[in-house]
Amino acid sequence: MNFDNLKTTAGLDLAGRRVLVRTDLNVPMVDGKISDATRLKRVIPGLKNLCEQGAKVIVISHFGRPKGASNAAMSLKPLVPAMSELLGKPVVFAADCIGDAASDSINGMKDGDVVLLENLRFHPGEEANAPNFVKALAKLGDIFVNDAFSTSHRAHASTAGIAQHLPSYAGPLMMEEINALRSALDTPERPTVAIVGGAKVSSKIPVLTNLVAKVDKLIIGGGMANTFLLAQGIEIGKSLAEPDFVATAHEILAAAKVNGCEIILPTDATIAREFKAGVPSETVPVTAVPIDAMILDVGPQSVSHLKDVIASCKTVLWNGPLGAFEVEPFGEGTFSLAKKVSALTQAGQMVSIAGGGDTVAALNAAGVTDNFTYVSTAGGAFLEWLEGRDLPGIVALTER
Ligand code: AMP
Repeated sequence: MNFDNLKTTAGLDLAGRRVLVRTDLNVPMVDGKISDATRLKRVIPGLKNLCEQGAKVIVISHFGRPKGASNAAMSLKPLVPAMSELLGKPVVFAADCIGDAASDSINGMKDGDVVLLENLRFHPGEEANAPNFVKALAKLGDIFVNDAFSTSHRAHASTAGIAQHLPSYAGPLMMEEINALRSALDTPERPTVAIVGGAKVSSKIPVLTNLVAKVDKLIIGGGMANTFLLAQGIEIGKSLAEPDFVATAHEILAAAKVNGCEIILPTDATIAREFKAGVPSETVPVTAVPIDAMILDVGPQSVSHLKDVIASCKTVLWNGPLGAFEVEPFGEGTFSLAKKVSALTQAGQMVSIAGGGDTVAALNAAGVTDNFTYVSTAGGAFLEWLEGRDLPGIVALTER
């Protein structure tokens, strides 16, 4: 991806221009009410800025997975009151994202107004990136701003397709995310360390393979570390592991060696006989896990070593918890290391970038999310970036 080609709307005269803004308003909802408005709140400053410049701001987004058909339960309409309040002005809702409903609402706009169009995914053409749908959408605006990094790994009409038809720009959130990720992977202050945890090796092979070629140190934790322990001939009892991926673990270890990347695995573990909150647990060396027990977290000796590793680095990139953090007390390792990263970041000693659904939940549980340099809420797009893949929504912005 040629980031030098990315353009923002800075310096453009937007007065009276119809600006189609792709956002990610896929907020969690419970009983028709927004249960976490983070995603919505984050797009507001960018939208306000466009309004202040006198643009006609047309907001587009997907919501849930309606599979190409209208579905009242997945309408974006319930977001209108919160969006109006946050923007400090009324938001007009159009009951369809293309056709008369959309163009009628847009034709009635004055400079600085905001229209929210209905869920893009009510049309099969959105996910299929169908030319007719792309054209119907592009017709509604004069310029396109993509401010939804989290959907940019999909080549959909509203991410990749539309950029072929309109002058296209990266929005402020998109730029923030790109700059943060580049600062960790492309132009980092060294040494760099990546922490990769989570349940399974199989879901993160491309991530691990890409990272060993890029970072100086790689900490592997969580269930996936168990497969690496297996690869070293260590007995891990009933622990979650993927024996079929032992060969993959060997390949990753070999690639790390070739690239001069140090891999750090846990040396001790918190184990239990059952995976339930409050069950008796104990700490043992990873070489002494009883046959009827399972590893559910990294142990204190490992945590202490990992803290030293982190403190010796200038940049940390984190995806995936080190243990089954949702169940007490198996979040201790993750929380303790997260607090260390948080303290070093706050002391100005490191740049810390984290992302992925479970990682954000774990950092929230540790109460340190705001102390990291940047925390990405983009699950799939963040992982694909870590895999070193080009994201079609961003490629589309760089190719024009
Ligand atoms: P992922 O979505 O791949 O990042 O995996 C996150 C999940 O991995 C979380 O739900 C954790 O509970 C789980 N996990 C982490 N470590 C372990 C472990 N040692 N045993 C079982 N599950 C784990």
